[in-house]
Amino acid sequence: MSTESTTNPITRRSFILTTAAGCAVMATELAGLNAWSKTEPLSTSVFPPLPYKVDALEPYISQNTVRIHYEKHHRGYFEKTAELIKGSKLAQLPLEEIVKQTADSPEQAAIFNNAAQVWNHDFYWKSLHPGGSGPKGELLKQLNANFGSLENLKKEMIQTAMSQFGSGWAWLVSEGGKLKVVKTSNAGTPLTQACTPLLTVDVWEHAYYLDYQNRRGDYVKAVVDHLINWEFAESNLPKI
Ligand code: MN
Repeated sequence: MSTESTTNPITRRSFILTTAAGCAVMATELAGLNAWSKTEPLSTSVFPPLPYKVDALEPYISQNTVRIHYEKHHRGYFEKTAELIKGSKLAQLPLEEIVKQTADSPEQAAIFNNAAQVWNHDFYWKSLHPGGSGPKGELLKQLNANFGSLENLKKEMIQTAMSQFGSGWAWLVSEGGKLKVVKTSNAGTPLTQACTPLLTVDVWEHAYYLDYQNRRGDYVKAVVDHLINWEFAESNLPKI
């Protein structure tokens, strides 16, 4: 899996956008955090591969869940987005721009919902990896400063995921130099807000129901205890 996108220059163009996750309303462009090109139109982009094998997250997330989640749900959002933007001006734009430009537009809600889910899922797959160590360096320093301990952060992630009524996402974000845990519902994404996402956990039922049924808390605990890619989270910290 290429990480070349991290070499993209950071741009600081601001947007006025609505808030849904408890972040401020002035958003800053992200620095190329995922597989999606910042310039290539989504309509000519290739759907990115999973960054690991489908069984890599076992025993915490089964290969059956990962396969269906990636091949049916994530790819389904990608194909639906492509279908919805076909022949429109949006077809000339990269994914992030499509998400941002449709975020506040009720008549474009279907496009936003599908496009944001494409972006969120890519970020989710990268937020996880098999095995893994704990947070280190600058990220650990900021976690300790903002949450007191890694254990406190994990507890807050679980509580936030549990408090999301229905489908959504739990995120660790950086905002104004501070880390915090926020949630978004449905396809909501910090990409359209002022905070920088560091990692996310998908709490739609399709992310865990085959393995955990209704036990969302057990799924989130397994993820934060065993699967978080802390190096990815640290790589997303805003550079000062
Ligand atoms: Mn999902």
